[in-house]
Amino acid sequence: MRLVVLGGGESGVGTAILGKQKGYDVFVSDFGKIKESYKEVLIQNAIAWEDEKHTESLILNADVVMKSPGIPEKAPIVKKLIEKGIPVISEIEFAAPFTKAVTIGITGSNGKTTTTMLTYHLLKSAGLNVGLAGNIGKSFAEQVAEDKYDSYVLELSSFQLDGIINYKPHIAIITNISPDHLDRYDYKYENYIDSKFRITMNQTEEDYLIYDADDEAISDWLKKNKTRAKLIPFSLTKTFDEGAFIKNNTMEAIINQEEFKMETESIALEGKHNLKNAMAATSVAKLMQIRKATIRESLSNFQGVEHRLEKVLKIQNVQYINDSKATNVNATFFALDSMTTPTVWIVGGVDKGNDYNELMALVREKVKAIICLGVDNRKIIDAFGNVVDIMVEVNNMNDAVKMAQRITEKGDTVLLSPACASFDLFENYEDRGRQFKAAVHNL
Ligand code: ADP
Repeated sequence: MRLVVLGGGESGVGTAILGKQKGYDVFVSDFGKIKESYKEVLIQNAIAWEDEKHTESLILNADVVMKSPGIPEKAPIVKKLIEKGIPVISEIEFAAPFTKAVTIGITGSNGKTTTTMLTYHLLKSAGLNVGLAGNIGKSFAEQVAEDKYDSYVLELSSFQLDGIINYKPHIAIITNISPDHLDRYDYKYENYIDSKFRITMNQTEEDYLIYDADDEAISDWLKKNKTRAKLIPFSLTKTFDEGAFIKNNTMEAIINQEEFKMETESIALEGKHNLKNAMAATSVAKLMQIRKATIRESLSNFQGVEHRLEKVLKIQNVQYINDSKATNVNATFFALDSMTTPTVWIVGGVDKGNDYNELMALVREKVKAIICLGVDNRKIIDAFGNVVDIMVEVNNMNDAVKMAQRITEKGDTVLLSPACASFDLFENYEDRGRQFKAAVHNL
C-alpha cells in the first residue's frame, strides 16, 4: 500500500512515521520548504520525501493520501487526486484505526484550545493515562505510533474534520459556531456549519455530543438534521434534566442522573465564554466518571492558556490583558463582555469580513478609548468613530501600548483583543501577543 503525505509539518511527519511503522510504502511531498528538524526525522526513519515541489508521478500512484490541514482542497494536486478517485483523508482518519484509545474530539469556532486544555487538565489530574493532540502539540499519529495512551483529548479544526470518513470520537464537543474561514467554504456559512457537524456523523447511540444550546447555528442544525449520539447540552440561560447549566451563580452538571455543583466564583477561568468552556469540560469529566473533588480542584486551579484573556501585568493599578488569539468578532465579544472596568481597547489587523455592529452595545458601555493597530483601520473608524471619545491609529505594538498607558487612569484595563487576523503587522497571533507582553514589561 502506498501512502502519500501532503505537507511535511507536524501532522504530516507524524502520519509518515505511523504509516512506515504499519508497513506502508510512504512518500512525503511538500510544495513549500520542510523544516530542517522535520527533514532529520524523515531521514532517520528512512522515509522518502521531497520539498518545494509536487512530483505527480510519485503522488498520483498513491492508494491513500493524507492531506495536512493547511492545504486547501482547491490546491491543484488535491484536485487531481480527487479526480482520480484516490481517497484524500486527514491525519485523524488515518491514525484512529491504529489505536484502541478512547478519543474526545473538540471542535467549534472559538474555545477549542481552551476547552481542550481544560478537559485534558481535568482527566490528567484524575490520574487517567491521557494524551493531548489534534491542532495542539505533538501529532496524534506519532503518539498512536508510540502507543502510550488509553485516551486522547483532540482539538479538531474543520479542516481535520473535512478529511474524515469513518472516524468518530466517543465524546464530541461543539463549543459554538460563528462565521470563520469562509474563504475555504465557498463563502457559504452552511458549508462551514456542516463541516463542524461532521464530528458527530459516525457517532452511535453509545457516543455523546456535548454542545452549546445557546448557539443558534447549532440549535438550527440539530432541528433539521439527525445524530445518533446522546445529546448533552450546556447553557448560560436554560436548565436541563441532563446537561450543564448555571443557576444562582452555581454551575450544575447533571449526567447519568448524577449531579455536580460548583460556585462559579471558584472557577479560575473568567468570563461567560469560559463558563461555557468549563461546562463542556465538566460534562466530559462526568462522562468519564471523574471524582467530584478532582473536578472541583482542577476547575479552581486551571489558569488558562497563553494569549486567551491572559493577564499580563498590573502597572499603576492598570491591568493589561493579552487576548491576541481573538481573531474574530465573536471572541472579542466575550472579551469585552468580561471587562469590569473602563477599558482601552487595542483592535485591528486583517479583517475577515467582520460585522462590528455586534460589539456596539459593549463598546458603548465599557470602552473609553480605541487604539487601532492595523494597516487598514477604516471599518473600525467608521463603526466606532462616533461612539468613543478617543480614537488613535498606530502601526506598531510599542506605540499601541505606550499610547494606551497615556490614556489610562488608575483602575482601568488595557485589552488587546484584535477581532482580526495578525498578518498585516505580525507573523502570527503568538508573535502579536508576545510583542504586546514585551511592550507592557518595558513600560
Ligand atoms: P480556538 O482554539 O477555537 O481558536 P481558543 O481557546 O484559542 O479557541 O480561544 C480563541 C479566542 O476566543 C480567545 O480570544 C478566547 O478568549 C475566546 N474564547 C474562548 N472560548 C470561547 C467561547 N466559548 N466562545 C467565544 N469565545 C471564546
